[in-house]
Amino acid sequence: MGDCHALWSQILEVIKTSSTPALFQSFFAGVRPICLRDDQLIVRVDSPLVADWLRQRYRTDIEAALQHACQRVVRLVVECEPQGAVTPVISPVDEPRLPAPVSAPRNQRPARPPATLNPAFRFDTFVIGSSNHMAHAAAYATAQQPGKVYNPLFMYGGVGLGKTHLMQAIGHAVLDRQPQQVVHFVSCERFTNQFIEALQARTLGKFRDFFRSNVDVLLIDDVQFLSNKESLQEEFFHTFNDLHMQGKQVVMTSDKSPQELQHIEQRMVNRFECGMVVDVQSPDFETRVAIIQKKLEQYGAQLDHDVCYYLANKVRNDVRKIEGALVKLLGFASVKHQPVTLDLARECLRSYVAAQCVTLDAIQKAVCDFFDVRVADLRSNKRPRAIAHPRQIAMYLCRELTTSSLTDIAQSFGGKDHTTVLYACRKIEQVKEQDEMVNQQLHALKRRLGNTEERCEQTPS
Ligand code: ADP
Ligand code: MG
Repeated sequence: MGDCHALWSQILEVIKTSSTPALFQSFFAGVRPICLRDDQLIVRVDSPLVADWLRQRYRTDIEAALQHACQRVVRLVVECEPQGAVTPVISPVDEPRLPAPVSAPRNQRPARPPATLNPAFRFDTFVIGSSNHMAHAAAYATAQQPGKVYNPLFMYGGVGLGKTHLMQAIGHAVLDRQPQQVVHFVSCERFTNQFIEALQARTLGKFRDFFRSNVDVLLIDDVQFLSNKESLQEEFFHTFNDLHMQGKQVVMTSDKSPQELQHIEQRMVNRFECGMVVDVQSPDFETRVAIIQKKLEQYGAQLDHDVCYYLANKVRNDVRKIEGALVKLLGFASVKHQPVTLDLARECLRSYVAAQCVTLDAIQKAVCDFFDVRVADLRSNKRPRAIAHPRQIAMYLCRELTTSSLTDIAQSFGGKDHTTVLYACRKIEQVKEQDEMVNQQLHALKRRLGNTEERCEQTPS
């Protein structure tokens, strides 16, 4: 125990150097090191906001410092203890290794859900909207009668849309009703590593026993990871068949539909499709607002409606990013000791806005205004430096501030070749190192583009 306090002090020294005093005070003052166990350092905080902040913003730095201090990989586990309740909040990446106890023991009511389930991922914290109501309904029905209605249940969709949340909600709901059930959540990547470890240690029998005879509900996340891995597919195929034949529930998630999965054997695809396949789509405006309100409830925080709408309008597709922006905003306000106003939100979320909303046209127009050249000239093939330089700057900014491909960018400059854009980007990269004026031009333009957020603001869909 003493060890973990000394270790934590050491880590704080490192973090202090890369953080502002205000941020450091806000987020680290209340962190209590609890213990160093195997490859995990457990710390406890009493604010969900601080917990999220540590997990999202500081995990990488802290784990790097831990590795340096301990000379081995040590993971950070942040427990959050609001109002006296001891509830470890463990993200899915914190799964313990086999043979650590990963499920509720049989014949015994678990005092808390298995460590691999995130306590926040429950049905009552999931916001239902038109984008996800089918997936929610299927997950809910599955949780009521595991192994009976939809087996397997296959949920697919883009990143950060709530697939893992729904999958773990099934686990919680099953355990709430039948605590003796063994629910096992595992990412496909972890399953792969365990399989490889078992192969190397010649303990494949134990591995198979665990999955095929011990588990009542198998939740396997991100099965797209099976692509291109033949022996793993073979192993999973048999595990799946065994469980399915015993009437045990299997739930899978993936970033693609079974048909779209590449390099996965057809017999696997057939298995994935033999139960229920549902997709999860990006939330619409109303759902995004409702999600923000739900998260606020969980954090015990409040925001004005106009700030909520602003946020819901700015960060669109990925719910994880919406959460990230919200945590950033609340943290920003608490550090500045200011209420969250619309102006504060604009200031704090400018980088999100720039990354999300700036269009190729807006960049070209801003560059033309700045250098006083015509858009038509920018898109022409004219070579004088007075035009060529702004053109290269504009191409560089298009590359940096949007997700457009080189080809699309080249197209927007009057149908040029993508190598022209590539050349411009390299050129600017190089000159900005040597020429402070170019650097300042880039900064000024980025600031202007960041300030033009209203231009790309769209009305609620
Ligand atoms: P995925 O597995 O699809 O990449 P996750 O399930 O990990 O996404 O969700 C990312 C984050 O967004 C989680 O914190 C989750 O709680 C939250 N989230 C996603 N959809 C919803 C929703 N409909 N209601 C509440 N939270 C959501
Ligand atoms: Mg996921």
